[in-house]
Amino acid sequence: TIGASLARTVERFGDREALVDVPGGRRWTYTEFGRAVEEVALGLLAKGVARGDRVGIWAINCPEWVLIQYATARIGAIMVNINPSYRVHELAYVLRQAEVSVLVSSVEHKTSDYRRMVEQVRSACPALRDVVYIADATWTGLIRLGQGVPRERLTERESRLGCDDPVNIQYTSGTTGFAKGATLSHRNILNNGYFVGETLGYTENDRVALPVPFYHCFGMVMGNLAATSHGACVVIPAPTFDPVATLHAVERERCTSLYGVPTMFIAELNLPDFATYDLSSLRTGIMAGSPCPAEVMKRVVSEMHMAEVAICYGMTETSPVSTQTRRDDDLGRRTGTVGRVLPHIEVKVVDPDTGATAARGEPGELCTRGYSVMLGYWNDPERTAEVVDEDRWMHTGDLAVMDEDGYVRIVGRIKDMIIRGGENVYPREIEEFLHSHPKIADVQVIGVPDEKYGEEIMACVILRDPADTLGRDELARFCRGRLAHFKIPRHLRILESFPMTVSGKVRKVELREQAAAEPV
Ligand code: ATP
Ligand code: MG
Repeated sequence: TIGASLARTVERFGDREALVDVPGGRRWTYTEFGRAVEEVALGLLAKGVARGDRVGIWAINCPEWVLIQYATARIGAIMVNINPSYRVHELAYVLRQAEVSVLVSSVEHKTSDYRRMVEQVRSACPALRDVVYIADATWTGLIRLGQGVPRERLTERESRLGCDDPVNIQYTSGTTGFAKGATLSHRNILNNGYFVGETLGYTENDRVALPVPFYHCFGMVMGNLAATSHGACVVIPAPTFDPVATLHAVERERCTSLYGVPTMFIAELNLPDFATYDLSSLRTGIMAGSPCPAEVMKRVVSEMHMAEVAICYGMTETSPVSTQTRRDDDLGRRTGTVGRVLPHIEVKVVDPDTGATAARGEPGELCTRGYSVMLGYWNDPERTAEVVDEDRWMHTGDLAVMDEDGYVRIVGRIKDMIIRGGENVYPREIEEFLHSHPKIADVQVIGVPDEKYGEEIMACVILRDPADTLGRDELARFCRGRLAHFKIPRHLRILESFPMTVSGKVRKVELREQAAAEPV
């Protein structure tokens, strides 16, 4: 179980640092961290949280988030991670769907008044009997309450837990629609975190900067579980992503590893004073979550000192990581593929219509199987059956190609594929190419309805220099002779930003809606 893994790390690396909260100026060694987790666990027991009860966490990144993650695991509760950018409608949906009985929430942050929103939905959530606000008297109250609980109650509870018990309901990013709650066990996510860390070569000497949200599997599994299962330290640069705070934290805390989705790395690399940060402590890190452009990867390797940076591919439903590049993969493979399958997991590429395994080099739907496949969507056996087949293969909805050596390339989501005049076009390939245009900082390619071809290709571009201009013809000239004619974007939109999920992914659905609302 996650509790047993943490206990082992505390025993082996008690004096090493476990957690650093840069904005709050607080730090914990593993001994202190283990004790702090125990205080929270006892507090939750005092509140009457039973095995299998759902404890919600709706908070921006802060140390208490991590304490709740481990405390709920220790008492056999199921932690429900709730996206901090949700508003009342979505919050109420999750609280009701997962029947959350105790909610731990931030008080407020920037324009989000979490307390007000919680109070607003409370009466509509009959299962919700208690709310604890972080950095408020209700939090200190929780800790105080726990002091009255004998430790034997915790040991007794822990002795009854098994590694196949559900430990989290993790909601997906909601990139393609409404977020789905994946129920995951200790076995699912602890193993995944461990193998991700192992593949990165984590030891107790690593210090991992996490600008990605904890609420998402990238933060809580690939970040927290990967670090703590190897005795490495988690560094929190800021409550929400901030490129300046991130580089500052790496420099100040001498971090060896840095995570991000591609857009985060792009924002950091493009800071006007980027060159003034001392990033020489960095060795590795992870870029994941959405397609990782080769150009960006190359800059991360050469300009951020992250010689061993890995690309991971996965999804919430598979704990999350299925494939990962390794330290000894050559740069071409580390920039051009999502690596090979992790230990104890299987992957295959199939024809989505027939289910037959595709030949090497042929695109098809990626399927994965192994310890990492979720128990199922929470309270939704029908939806589960749509993605997990009788043989326990998870059908990812992603299109991939596998080469002779087992390296996997993601070519896009089935839902994002453009069919132009009968020709399958993968936006990913065009995006990758357009990233090499000197004026383009970031780009998304979508299909828009077209009378003649069914769909036509549109590039949505963020310029490096907002004062600059880029015309449709200029872009087409850049592509001509280098991209097949049917892949050349016929439409171009210049944007200042993309609609994003809080885990940092571009919501193409919304880009398509925007494009439809203002026809070209
Ligand atoms: P939802 O399922 O709610 O629409 P989501 O699929 O974005 O949202 P996540 O589970 O956070 O939710 O993300 C998993 C998806 O992210 C994968 O299915 C894949 O499409 C994409 N992805 C993850 N890693 C990579 C990667 N390295 N390269 C390309 N795409 C990736
Ligand atoms: Mg998904």
